[in-house]
Amino acid sequence: MPELPEVHTTATGLQKVLPGLKIVDVWTDYNSSFYAGKDNIKDKKYFKKFRIQIIGKKVIGAGRRGKNVLIHLKDDFTILVHMKMTGHILYGTYRRVKSRKSIKSIKWDPVEPETLKDPFNRFIHFVITFSNGKCLALSDMRKFAKITLLKTSTIDESLDTKHLGPEPLEKNFTFEVFKKQLNKKPSGKIKTVLMDQSLVSGIGNIYSDEILWKTGIHPLKCVKNISNSNLKKIYETVKIILRKGIDFGGDSMSDYRNIHGEKGNFQHKHQAYRKTGEKCSKKNCEGIIVRIKVGGRSAHFCSTHQKI
Ligand SMILES: [Zn+2]
Repeated sequence: MPELPEVHTTATGLQKVLPGLKIVDVWTDYNSSFYAGKDNIKDKKYFKKFRIQIIGKKVIGAGRRGKNVLIHLKDDFTILVHMKMTGHILYGTYRRVKSRKSIKSIKWDPVEPETLKDPFNRFIHFVITFSNGKCLALSDMRKFAKITLLKTSTIDESLDTKHLGPEPLEKNFTFEVFKKQLNKKPSGKIKTVLMDQSLVSGIGNIYSDEILWKTGIHPLKCVKNISNSNLKKIYETVKIILRKGIDFGGDSMSDYRNIHGEKGNFQHKHQAYRKTGEKCSKKNCEGIIVRIKVGGRSAHFCSTHQKI
């Protein structure tokens, strides 16, 4: 699932290309009766309303809150996209073609840039067409993504964002704030607590593994048993690792691609995540990376230098 560095990469990419463009059309083939009555474009009725509300609107900017991409429009509207497991937003030129098999079904053929033709970019389920002829397309193999429309002025009170903890890369995210948030779950295991979006927003499976490997803390260690100096180390490492993720353009070990359809490079920098069975790369450590289940998720760590 895209985490803070990937969502950040997408949002900053969109901020470079979208402002000033007018929305001329929107299309989707997400449609599930499971979402009936929900504020989600997967509900047919909701999508109809969504379509009317956004067509003709100009984009004024793009941003991020937690793992949500925010596309701000004129007149106090914001499109919120949570990419979930396999979703990623693309931008470029597409050709809209009617499938020969069924007259109703539409396919979107990528034209340019060339990188949109990567097989991981071919699961298009949502497309916004802009006044310059270009499109924002959401590729989402497993169809778990969420798209909804919010009032820009009340985003922080919306169900999608109000539960989110502080942003770890913001200036006001001090060590005191970090400690206060973690201490809400004193018996929680550090790996689970770091990934809890209500405590700190944006960290998921990949970056929590890398943060704990670098700090030498075992993923199952309880918050209350971590010394103040080690908590400080984790706090500093959260910022370092997330910034590193952004510097490398995000992580594309799985489906993630940037808005041009290109891979990020953080997957080449992993020291723990999906390194099961490999020798630990920490200097003078003879350990091996192992994998265990924590709260239904996998944790990868060095059984020698990461202490419980
Ligand atoms: Zn080690």
